[in-house]
Amino acid sequence: RPPRSTLFPYTTLFRSESLKEREGVEAMSDQLEALRAQLDDVNLKLLELINERGKIVQKIGEVKSKSGQKRFDPVRERKMLDIIAEHNKGPFDTDTLQHLFKQIFQLSLGLQEDDNRKALLVSRKKKPEDTIVDLKGIKIGNGEQHLITGPCSVESYEQVREVAEAMKAQGLKLLRGGAFKPRTSPYDFQGLGKEGLEILKRVAEELDMVVISEVMNPNDVEMACEYIDVIQIGARNMQNFDLLKEVGGTDKPVLLKRGLSATIDEFVKAAEYILAKGNGNVMLCERGIRTYERATRNTLDISAVPILKQETHLPVLVDVTHSTGRRDLLLPTAKAAFAIGADAIMAEVHPDPAVALSDSAQQMDISQFNDFVQSLRDAGLYKL
Ligand code: PEP
Ligand code: MN
Repeated sequence: RPPRSTLFPYTTLFRSESLKEREGVEAMSDQLEALRAQLDDVNLKLLELINERGKIVQKIGEVKSKSGQKRFDPVRERKMLDIIAEHNKGPFDTDTLQHLFKQIFQLSLGLQEDDNRKALLVSRKKKPEDTIVDLKGIKIGNGEQHLITGPCSVESYEQVREVAEAMKAQGLKLLRGGAFKPRTSPYDFQGLGKEGLEILKRVAEELDMVVISEVMNPNDVEMACEYIDVIQIGARNMQNFDLLKEVGGTDKPVLLKRGLSATIDEFVKAAEYILAKGNGNVMLCERGIRTYERATRNTLDISAVPILKQETHLPVLVDVTHSTGRRDLLLPTAKAAFAIGADAIMAEVHPDPAVALSDSAQQMDISQFNDFVQSLRDAGLYKL
């Protein structure tokens, strides 16, 4: 039989240690302790140096802002990186160190901005109280929950009038219809354009309603403002920055929809474009985002509602029609949206959805619409 230690070399671990071995282990652990203490020392020195550097950068920031110079100076930064390369004696390679120093540079640069400047205009940090958007006397964002309805596309005066009358009968005044339609295919119905706006305005005047309609082209904004009360910016145009700037220059309330695949951060920054131009009457509308899920047209990101309500002071709406793309899901998603705190729900209604020129699969007919409103009332979720 071979000796145990040859078969199981690790059994040496269990052998009783000789005195010499034990002394060796102790010396090593002393050495380790000493090195660790050195490391702690170096960390503290680095900490002190990084903060000292931060203070100097802050002072530089003050001098620069007094003389109106830009914070970031690429020439100066390149020079600092070159000096680091020149003096690097290793063991770290120069690329690694330059990367590290760039991080430090960037963070120090952040110190030059005061907290207030970093806060977005849309943020609660900038404005803690809720923004209430007044739509001809109807207040969105004051805690009451509203319904915004109407046909996907304006197709005729009679069609809009029929939907509007049904809305009126339910006490609803926020009429939404598309005159400029952003369609995936160029061969699909593109909307009636200005004629559609004229129809909306006519019906709204006859029945004392508020008109919401999408504008796609910055050049149409001024003209559209003569017909509509609220400018809608559709999902496909959420990052049409020229359009955002254009509507930011008007005094019309804006209903901004979340982009097809936009993150919440991108959505919020799109709204910021409008506020930055001076128009604070912005409503955010969650309308579903693109995910791998195919059971619904989009995936309604319901948690976006409380996130947007927490992080911004703007009213938050949920479009149950385009987020689900399914008539059978309009009511349950609307309930969820009101329960989670949405300020308004948007849904599409058509007198005869089967022949609608757009979104025929998910629009409600008049009787479904009546049931929809009644069910929300019965559930205690819609109180107006
Ligand atoms: C719409 O609201 O008519 C519309 C086209 O929706 P979205 O821009 O969200 O796709
Ligand atoms: Mn539609």
